Amino acid sequence: MKEAAFIYDEGTLLRVATDGITFSPTRLEYTYQLLKAYRAFNKRDSVIVVPQKASEADLLTFHTKDYVEAVKCFSRGERLGEALRFNFSDCGDNPVYPEMYEVSTLIVGGSLKAAELVSEDKVGVAFNPSGGGHHATPGHASGFCIFNDIVIAIKYLLSRGLRVAYIDIDAHHGDGVQDAFYDTDRVLTISLHETGRVLFPGTGEPLEIGVGAGKGYAVNIPLAPYTDDETYLWAFDQIAPKLVESYKPDILVTQLGSDTHHIDPMTQLALTTEGYEGVLRRLRRLAPRWVAVGGGGYEVSVVARCWALAYGIMIDRELPDEIPRSYEDLYGLKRLRDTERPHLDSQTKQQARRFAEESVAAVKRLVFPYHGLNPCPLDH
Ligand SMILES: [Zn+2]
Repeated sequence: MKEAAFIYDEGTLLRVATDGITFSPTRLEYTYQLLKAYRAFNKRDSVIVVPQKASEADLLTFHTKDYVEAVKCFSRGERLGEALRFNFSDCGDNPVYPEMYEVSTLIVGGSLKAAELVSEDKVGVAFNPSGGGHHATPGHASGFCIFNDIVIAIKYLLSRGLRVAYIDIDAHHGDGVQDAFYDTDRVLTISLHETGRVLFPGTGEPLEIGVGAGKGYAVNIPLAPYTDDETYLWAFDQIAPKLVESYKPDILVTQLGSDTHHIDPMTQLALTTEGYEGVLRRLRRLAPRWVAVGGGGYEVSVVARCWALAYGIMIDRELPDEIPRSYEDLYGLKRLRDTERPHLDSQTKQQARRFAEESVAAVKRLVFPYHGLNPCPLDH
């Protein structure tokens, strides 16, 4: 793969200041500083690219005019009485904060920049860690996501005649992206997530396979709480490579939420950095060209380590486990990879495995025939 680009602008850090714990500014800054300490940005094969704000026309490729206007006004402290209608509230997932329109358009601009660089073959892979707003809908905010930078970036790629596959490894179902392309075969969406029976947004069952021309092009692999590295990677291997290889996308777009980690406070999946790296290596192998965005992750030290590992894989660099002294002194982290695994009893592991087997079997039965693939029994 050719060069890699890391899309970064301190302007996206503003988002954090008012978002409280969930999107603490440190998520992106820690990641950037960690990669800098590893000297991951050198001019030859890995560059930092500063994004520009997306235009209103960009936003309108997916969002309604009504909604875009409302976000603009809320951002200036106007029309706040209507906030609830668009799913904003101070006590929910989507608080209004000053300049949120500007910050959100910069985030969207980052994902568009990543899509542009990759589609024009300027780099083989581009990573916008501030992106990943996979829940946002055309007309309202959802699950910390104001604008859906992923849908807007994919629409841009489609407008250039490219074929796109999307893989979402966030612990939450990628509902907003799935819904945007639910009736078309021009985007294959695959989401692995903790089952919606216990986790927001409640969707993402294998039965959700698309409608009309999109039938068979929405793929959902729900997983039980406490699913570990081994079962997660097994489920991934059963489904994703076969579908992507048969679909033959020009570009792979991935949402790289790191809230699947076992110490993430908002979810109950039980991955380690080893499992996360395992998925990233697989994504790299599958991606002809690669647009990557961030996503969830609510334990700052985990997010920084996971996304640094992800970018290391994108630039083909095995980052040493020992964290450079300059970073360790500032942020107190010593090792890049986990030193402890989650403690799971064998019954919990077996239950999670059985749940994954049911999901995988259902996807094979429901989706594989649309791709000329054999809905064969499970490979163990
Ligand atoms: Zn998430």
